[in-house]
Amino acid sequence: MDTVVLGAGIAGLGYLNSYAECENIRVYEKDSRPGGLCKSFTINGFTFDSAVHLSFTKSEAARELFDKTQFTRHEPIAYNFYNGKYIKHPVINNLSCFSPEERCEYIESFLDRSTGIEIANYGDWLLGSYGRAFKRDFYDCYTRKYWRMEADELSTTWIGKRLQNPDFHKILMGSFTSDTGIDYYANEMRYPVEGGYEAFLDPLIKRDHIIYNKDVVGIDTAKKEVFFHDGDHVHYDKLVSSLPLCRMPEIVRNVPENVTEAAKRLKYTKVSIVSIGFHKLNIAKHLWMYIYDEDIMAARVNSPGIKSSNNVPAGYSSLQFEIYHGDWEKINREEVIENTLYALRKMKLCQKDDIEFVDYRLLPFGNVIFYNGMENDRDIVRNYLKKEGIHTIGRFGEWDYLWSDQSLLSGVHGGQCEVSVSEGGEKQP
Ligand SMILES: Cc1cc2nc3c(=O)[nH]c(=O)nc-3n(C[C@H](O)[C@H](O)[C@H](O)COP(=O)(O)OP(=O)(O)OC[C@H]3O[C@@H](n4cnc5c(N)ncnc54)[C@H](O)[C@@H]3O)c2cc1C
Repeated sequence: MDTVVLGAGIAGLGYLNSYAECENIRVYEKDSRPGGLCKSFTINGFTFDSAVHLSFTKSEAARELFDKTQFTRHEPIAYNFYNGKYIKHPVINNLSCFSPEERCEYIESFLDRSTGIEIANYGDWLLGSYGRAFKRDFYDCYTRKYWRMEADELSTTWIGKRLQNPDFHKILMGSFTSDTGIDYYANEMRYPVEGGYEAFLDPLIKRDHIIYNKDVVGIDTAKKEVFFHDGDHVHYDKLVSSLPLCRMPEIVRNVPENVTEAAKRLKYTKVSIVSIGFHKLNIAKHLWMYIYDEDIMAARVNSPGIKSSNNVPAGYSSLQFEIYHGDWEKINREEVIENTLYALRKMKLCQKDDIEFVDYRLLPFGNVIFYNGMENDRDIVRNYLKKEGIHTIGRFGEWDYLWSDQSLLSGVHGGQCEVSVSEGGEKQP
């Protein structure tokens, strides 16, 4: 059987790795390298990933593959930046740095939270879980930064174990002491010793089966053919796609109007990643941080040199900021870079002349957005593709909030069965 796989991200590679012995597989990738969102890149001896990327999988199957690469372990200690304060994650369990008045407001509004209400959207869920004041100061602004929508406009199906249900004893304890320990669902984060996150994918790459620089521009499901930007085309018996669902009606021929309309409604974020090298040690203090201040565009910043000391030359350090954009937004690269430099100043992370270089790049697909009703639109598109014999896999083929291990498993399962979301660990969005 001739199987064509579209996309050599971790999902496409997962499929290839699982079925190469029983199917004649060719993977077509538009980039010149495999890895998709799990790709790393190097600038002047500094290694960066495509945004934070740490592995916290609990899946044995994913672990078995990732563990073939030598890795380092990290305690999942994240921090938050809010109004000049660096606060251990999660903020709600670390309120001791706030004034007595602020602590009282957060705790009282937590006790008054709207439990028992019907949860119609993420905004309701936040009110019911954290209370009005905490939602207002932390989650509302973080939601705007990360999802580019208001909490009330989002559904709750993506939450899973990603957000904690607060525990009153921990909130109370953390409002008296800063000695609160680590409170994370995942008890460790793993990262390759060398080569950045993409090194985890090395054991999956069967080079003879992957064809690069092949941008898929057409699919004829009646003739079972895939067309490429360079005029080339291939025949398939089985077609597996990790391409973004929202783009499929442009690519697949003769898609019905209702499917095209549903695909047009699907929303997603793009991510600007601003990677900065410093000719100074210890600029980075924490593995990763969430940023709540709305005058700073970045939602998160991670520290490649803490992930692995091999990510920075000796005596240097680095940071990488993530700035999210709705697919409908115009991106101003200069503004993003300027604002990131402002963030460095406001967060008192470095002096201007500590900077060695600033690199900007854009991830064209970051997260799928769970607006209210998205699941219905997604099903319309996926069911149509399934009917046409296209197996969809991965974060954008399944159109779901999958971490790398889940995208891998989606490929390993060949798009035949649903991935149980959150075999991975908890992580704040
Ligand atoms: C900001 C951010 C942070 C993340 N952090 C973590 C983390 O800490 N831990 C974790 O486990 N996961 C993390 N993830 C999730 C992880 O990156 C994804 O789950 C995973 O990489 C998705 O793999 P995929 O193969 O499904 O999709 P992709 O990686 O997007 O692969 C799809 C491939 O298809 C190719 N393609 C697209 N269009 C075409 C076309 N027309 N023709 C041919 N090829 C095409 C693309 O070039 C790409 O290589 C993060 C993701 C983001 C966005």
